[in-house]
Amino acid sequence: MTSRRTRDRLVQRLLEQGVGNRQVLDVMAGTPRHIFLDEALAHRAYEDTALPIGFGQTLSQPYIVARMTAALLDNSRSLERVLEVGTGSGYQTSILAQLVSRVYSVERIKPLQDKARTRLRQLGLRNVDLKHADGGFGWPERGPFNAILSTAAPREVPAELLAQLAPDGVLVIPVGEEQQNLCLIVREGESANFRTEVLEPVKFVPLLSGITR
Ligand code: SAH
Repeated sequence: MTSRRTRDRLVQRLLEQGVGNRQVLDVMAGTPRHIFLDEALAHRAYEDTALPIGFGQTLSQPYIVARMTAALLDNSRSLERVLEVGTGSGYQTSILAQLVSRVYSVERIKPLQDKARTRLRQLGLRNVDLKHADGGFGWPERGPFNAILSTAAPREVPAELLAQLAPDGVLVIPVGEEQQNLCLIVREGESANFRTEVLEPVKFVPLLSGITR
């Protein structure tokens, strides 16, 4: 269930679904997903589905994790500083941490953040900084970021996230309510112009304001 072979099968499926970034696939093949789930759900960790992590939140579907990470890597000039909005279980965080220099991740639900911290430590990932806050405001003290990835969907792209993009920075974010689209937004050089590309329709939990202790 938790073997390398099971993960290789999952990655093979992602490849068939069109995820072409080998680096991302290799990292996903090498990262246990079951440790990010409660024991009762761990046996389903390598199915290509979203799974509940408590507090009404979900661990994103592997295909979506792969797709978002690949979009970020394929379009970023630099991978020095990456912000994640919505740490959740920490699974997406752990994938990013193995591909970029430093990950800053913000989560609004404290118990989820605490669990994620333990798991990231368990995997020996030390290039991650976590913050308990409303990530809709980004993490201004740590920005600007070469890339930002949001795993929760706002109705509209928060201006704060755009403002914290470094020149040529990219933002990968689901946007919308019932109808959501995964968007790739690229800052054009040092300008205040942004190019938006719609990648595909998706279903994410909403980006909520405020924090939960
Ligand atoms: N990347 C996560 C996905 C978790 S679902 C994983 O791999 O498990 C999205 C997460 O975004 C939830 O944990 C939710 O609490 C969080 N979230 C929603 N709105 C937020 C906000 N404004 N700031 C920070 N986190 C937020």
